[in-house]
Amino acid sequence: MQKRIYNFSAGPAILPEDVLKEAQENLFALPGVGMSILEISHRSKAFDKIIAETKTDLKSLLNVSDDYELLFLQGGASLQFSMVPLNLMPPKNTADYIITGSWSKKAVKEAKRVGTVNIAASTEGENFKRIPKQDELKLDPEAAYVHITTNNTIYGTQWHKEPEVGNVPLVCDASSDILHKKIDVNKYALIYGGAQKNMGPAGVTLVIIRKDLLGRSSDSLHTMLNYKTHVENNSLYNTPNTFGIYIIGLVAKWVTKLGGLDAMYKLNKEKAEVLYGCIDASGGFYKGHAEKDSRSLMNVTFNLATEDLEKKLIAEATAAGFDGLKGHRSVGGLRASIYNAFPKKGVEDLVSFMKDFQNKND
Ligand SMILES: *Cc1c(COP(=O)(O)O)cnc(C)c1O
Repeated sequence: MQKRIYNFSAGPAILPEDVLKEAQENLFALPGVGMSILEISHRSKAFDKIIAETKTDLKSLLNVSDDYELLFLQGGASLQFSMVPLNLMPPKNTADYIITGSWSKKAVKEAKRVGTVNIAASTEGENFKRIPKQDELKLDPEAAYVHITTNNTIYGTQWHKEPEVGNVPLVCDASSDILHKKIDVNKYALIYGGAQKNMGPAGVTLVIIRKDLLGRSSDSLHTMLNYKTHVENNSLYNTPNTFGIYIIGLVAKWVTKLGGLDAMYKLNKEKAEVLYGCIDASGGFYKGHAEKDSRSLMNVTFNLATEDLEKKLIAEATAAGFDGLKGHRSVGGLRASIYNAFPKKGVEDLVSFMKDFQNKND
């Protein structure tokens, strides 16, 4: 088998090795089915079982009540930037958005095509180095919903507690931190996320929607853009990403076996502490981008004194088997994405490497 290196990519991102091995083992023929997951009908008994189990396992991991529906859609989180306002904005046609990074801005761009967007807060003036505080939010009690991005993949910041939004439905883009810890789903009206960061391969978007919201979706919407279509057809109105859903199912079983989301969260905190600890102990050689209380457990962003030094570190790290550390161009520097599947040993090895690099270059 090929040797694997450490994959710090922001997305598509690392998957658990056990999941890759199981998928590989069963790719030729699913046990008891005799055909590959890549070959079977989405309307077959075998796939019925896969989608049902994936749903059940995700619902039990996240403790989702029967007031909600789980959907496996396509078009990425980016299509949800449109589907959310198209379905949920009417009849009020005004919604609150809290801008904490590039993805929130893209969500706003699409919402503006549907109705009025009130920017309840934005930290863009500070290059998105923090999450706004509760008393900074200018929320409209009449808004159709409030939209947040729970983890800002590019800037490395994360909401550690939901904003208080009163009776207004809370909608979130959780693409890069879904399943990283147990959340109280009841605080949300709708949660969506592309699978390719923390849950599975690219090409599936998970949507968790509270059923009462479906009443807002107008029958005049295009069929594929209407949440009701997908609820009524169990995400099988058109051919879904069958392989992607299968892998999400394996990932859900992997998280369950590991001890569920509390165990996952504990591990994620330990990994993040190792890396932020190194940054904080470096005497300013490594400078974290995010303010401490806004730091993401998933994407750790940091800079060095000069771009040349950053380039040198990235080149040497890549040669040593640490891949995908180059930061997004809007922050520069480095970004280590350490999602659920990223091993603690890999974070510890990166930290040894960083200490060594500092000793040689400080
Ligand atoms: C990656 C990402 C997206 C975009 O996801 P696509 O599936 O490519 O549309 C949106 N929001 C967040 C927070 C992301 O990290």
